[in-house]
Amino acid sequence: MAKMWIKDAVDKIGQEIDLYGWVDSRRDHGKLVFVDLRDRSAICQVVFSPASGEKIYQDAQKLRSEWVVKVSGLVKERPQGMINDKIPTGKIEIEAKGLEILNESKTPPFDLAGDGYEVSEDIRMQYRYLDLRRPRLKKNLVQRNRIIKFFRDFLEKKDFVEVETPIITKSTPEGARDYLVPSRVYPGNFYALPQSPQQYKQLLMVAGLEKYFQIARCFRDEDTRGDRQPEFTQLDLEMSFVGEEDILSLTEELYLAMVRTLYPQKQITLDENGKIPRITYQEVMEKYGSDKPDIRKDKNNPDELAFLFIVDFPMFEWSETEKRWDAVHHPFTAPKLSDGSTDKQKILEVLKKDPSGLLARQYDFVLNGCEIGGGSIRTHDPDILASVFEAMGNQPEEIKEKFGHMLEAFSYGVPPHGGIAPGIDRLVMVLEIEPNIREVIAFPKTGDGRDLMMHSPGPADEKQLKELGIQIIKKDK
Ligand code: ASP
Repeated sequence: MAKMWIKDAVDKIGQEIDLYGWVDSRRDHGKLVFVDLRDRSAICQVVFSPASGEKIYQDAQKLRSEWVVKVSGLVKERPQGMINDKIPTGKIEIEAKGLEILNESKTPPFDLAGDGYEVSEDIRMQYRYLDLRRPRLKKNLVQRNRIIKFFRDFLEKKDFVEVETPIITKSTPEGARDYLVPSRVYPGNFYALPQSPQQYKQLLMVAGLEKYFQIARCFRDEDTRGDRQPEFTQLDLEMSFVGEEDILSLTEELYLAMVRTLYPQKQITLDENGKIPRITYQEVMEKYGSDKPDIRKDKNNPDELAFLFIVDFPMFEWSETEKRWDAVHHPFTAPKLSDGSTDKQKILEVLKKDPSGLLARQYDFVLNGCEIGGGSIRTHDPDILASVFEAMGNQPEEIKEKFGHMLEAFSYGVPPHGGIAPGIDRLVMVLEIEPNIREVIAFPKTGDGRDLMMHSPGPADEKQLKELGIQIIKKDK
């Protein structure tokens, strides 16, 4: 069925065409029935009258919102004075000559007109396929696709290769809990869903790929909130033979080009050299008391974008609950001394004695007060890496068991490398001026981590549990 977009009907004045779509609304005016027909591209007015044919005219009177129809008719220019400037098809209407009802619809549980913010989120999520019929949400998905396509095209031109990495894998530490997947074949053993492709992308550098990226799904079992979801998407990238400057300038070039191409109406606040400002962690904390300050000049202007890079984070923070040093970014980040030196012997000494003063070759990427990404230059020296794991309280046996594969890989000629992973969801949220990331994800979880449409998470049946060798211990509430 070769379907024509409704938006293209404006180019067919004087011609008979077939249109397919959903009834957005129907109005009866004496002998005339006006139907607004909607598809992904636009809404267009169709006029039915007794001259359309008696059966067609009667069927038109039966139409209800969200019925799916095929309309055949003549494209006519609307008379002056009847032109609707607010919609792209406002200067035409379709004089109906045929109507086929392809599917009827129950009355939707909530109004699909308008932007829908006022509708309870639970019901919107339960009927997400209806909620997504709203032009606002469709636009968010279309823009998200354009942004991702821009990233892909840009990076491909710069010789990056997109590589998919496994989803059922081994734990990789990013500071959250893992989602575990029980193995049927090896009862009592579990895969972990990746908190990020961190280890795989570094192993691709060991493999000699040199420039990798991926539109990667990450899974973190932490409490959900407005700008967090159990699964989310990152533009994950990694490069070999680079320092901080290479990663930051590539990120800057990519993001500024994307905004200037896809959002030319936005004003980007840059520093006096026309660059994304960079500020150290110490300065940002002193000046703003936050490591993700909103540095827009006018916070009431939703079309202003203020990007910021934060550099020189501390390498470790003390965890009072665990009584150990935790990596501020992740343990694969390269440490440096407070004077910026990367002298191996000195770093090894400090790691043993008192790691508190070490800095990290880490950077965070902030936009309008949202952390939209982070990355680092990595440790490629296996001795330093092992020492970082030790400083974080891992016993030699644990290091072998958790990270032995990385240390082994790093003993076969690993290039110096680094990368970054800006999040896609938060970026689209800010660009589309949405209040939370659920508005820019097709099928998000609710604020409390449930999928109300698919009823997930849900119990597993006895047979599945038995196969997996799993017994459920009921918790007292
Ligand atoms: N894997 C890191 C993260 O998800 C990003 C990076 O270091 O490249 O935050």
